[in-house]
Amino acid sequence: MKLRKVTAASAAVFALALTATACGGDDSDNSGSSSGGGDKIKIGIKYDQPGLGLKEPGGTFAGFDVDVATYVAKELGYEPNQIEWVETKSADRENALERGDVKFIAATYSITDERKEKVDFAGPYLLAHQDLLVKKDADITKATDLNDKKLCSVVGSTSAQNVKKDFAPDAQLTERGGYSECLSALQSGAVDALTTDDSILAGYAAQDQYKGKFKLAGLKLSNENYGIGVKKGDTETVNKINDALEKMVSDKSWDKAVEANFGPAEYKNEPAPQIGNIVK
Ligand code: GLU
Repeated sequence: MKLRKVTAASAAVFALALTATACGGDDSDNSGSSSGGGDKIKIGIKYDQPGLGLKEPGGTFAGFDVDVATYVAKELGYEPNQIEWVETKSADRENALERGDVKFIAATYSITDERKEKVDFAGPYLLAHQDLLVKKDADITKATDLNDKKLCSVVGSTSAQNVKKDFAPDAQLTERGGYSECLSALQSGAVDALTTDDSILAGYAAQDQYKGKFKLAGLKLSNENYGIGVKKGDTETVNKINDALEKMVSDKSWDKAVEANFGPAEYKNEPAPQIGNIVK
């Protein structure tokens, strides 16, 4: 089941997973064929985001993105045992699709105009909002409070860009490779806040070892429309994934995945978005 709580041991394992590299790309597109039937499909996810994409101890994968990707893969003709999960960190996603390392990516991947120049998106399938994670007793209640503070986000993320451009241009921003590295920095006091999507932050705050230590500021700093990334020009796959996502919502599998993955963190998600409806 997806309800498993993240323990200290599993946190250590996912921290270790950060050092693992994503699937090395050769030049050919061996990400799987959408015709299905016998072969494998490679799908990009995050490995260190509890509730969304997490590599668990023992090598299983769990989270909302994992459930969405598994549902979509089934609609494309692939059973769960035909899925090969590949870690796609924030800064690696466009390259992984361009190289053909993976057939698609479901990794808290916001649809943006800039990214659409390099990749195509199906969806959106979830609307999240950028927020801050701070220590329980911290006096940070609005974005401008960050201006003289140390802030951590992840390289290649919209969150890091938004901070630099809009919210707190004078914050001392550290960009790390993955969110769990920012979480360690927040815990040790090396930074004052971690910024990314509230969906991700809620998953961290709910982990057993962090319970009662951190809080979300609840700021809704941006709209993050999660899409499924596909190689640019692969319209056939985009259309099939959109059909799959619509089916996932209409047969209530989307609701079940929300409950199973966000329930434990008490994350109050937005309702299922309409395909093609990007909230600016
Ligand atoms: N959703 C944001 C993005 O796509 C932040 C989360 C992430 O880095 O995956 O950049």
